[in-house]
Amino acid sequence: MTRTSPWRIPLLAIGLLSMLLACSPEPGTYHHRFLAFGTLMDLTIAGVPEDRASAAGKALEDDFSVMHAVWHAWTPGPLTRTNSLLAEGRTFSAPPSVLPLVALSKRLAEQSDNLFNPAIGRLIRLWGFQSDEPTRSRPPPDAELIRQEVAKRPRMSDITIDDYRLKSSNPAVQLDFGAIGKGYGIDLGIAHLRELGIDNAIINAGGDLRAIGRNGDRPWRIAIRGADGEGVLGYLETTGDESVFTSGDYERGFTWEGRHYHHIIDPRTGYPAQGTRSVTVVSTDAATADAAATALFVAGPAQWPRIAARMGITQVLLVDSAGVLHMTPAMQQRLHLLDADGADIVITPASASTP
Ligand code: ADP
Ligand code: MG
Repeated sequence: MTRTSPWRIPLLAIGLLSMLLACSPEPGTYHHRFLAFGTLMDLTIAGVPEDRASAAGKALEDDFSVMHAVWHAWTPGPLTRTNSLLAEGRTFSAPPSVLPLVALSKRLAEQSDNLFNPAIGRLIRLWGFQSDEPTRSRPPPDAELIRQEVAKRPRMSDITIDDYRLKSSNPAVQLDFGAIGKGYGIDLGIAHLRELGIDNAIINAGGDLRAIGRNGDRPWRIAIRGADGEGVLGYLETTGDESVFTSGDYERGFTWEGRHYHHIIDPRTGYPAQGTRSVTVVSTDAATADAAATALFVAGPAQWPRIAARMGITQVLLVDSAGVLHMTPAMQQRLHLLDADGADIVITPASASTP
């Protein structure tokens, strides 16, 4: 039979159309990777055509290279200039790139009882963590020098902000934004993406990230690093706007005579904070998550619930030095642990009344 059915042509046309649709690149997931803040940044964008995603990726790479330069704690620039003027006790016009971080850090330092204390730049330099090669084996600093630095009690509250002018009443104050710069930078990056009309994205700085929107019709799936910095402890799913930050003792540090000295300093003792291996915090903005992860690491297994409550953080996972997982109920509810049976878990709410 050679007669063509009257249905044949429209069916062919529909078939052709759907084939075309299947082949035309549907807006998928776009990745852009670059180095900033001494780590690999991975930007993931979903739901927009590739040319827009790629333009956004380049714009963010430029943003981060500027932020890396202006907040660098030891390469000469606006922050080192700020530190010289703070040490002289002068009133001076703050560089515009530094002012918002000072204001934000003052608030977060106060909320954390100064366990997050970016005014301890002198201590961090003494420990050799303001260096491009912090992992080389070497002895810890002299105990007397550490004691002297701690006794000077540098605090963010020593800095007064008068409009755009800064002044420090304590010459020992030196700013180091190592525990918040990455987070604040990610917040600025997310704001920039939104201005470009991108509402589904992740900005990931070596495992610390903020995720907005979703991945197509699915949530974003976020892996939580293991307490040794390797492997994956579990994952969470997110569809709104959340930041997930981890501070771990494996990030930077050195070993001397069999002891490991890491880069998260307890401002009360001047030594690397004891008792914690890693802390993961979930919060809306990345700057708060970054500062809180550092503060709760310093607070340790006994004091973190009080500091978390003060900072308004309800989702915490802390792995202590014995490997026990401490979690808030809100974290327990949503964290998918990969080895839940083998884990030793304590659930504690963030609370002002815990020891
Ligand atoms: P990560 O390196 O994983 O981002 P953090 O966010 O905890 O870790 O930041 C650690 C860095 O912050 C250190 O390298 C140092 O520059 C600085 N720092 C160390 N201890 C403190 C502290 N108690 N408060 C504020 N900043 C700190
Ligand atoms: Mg931090």
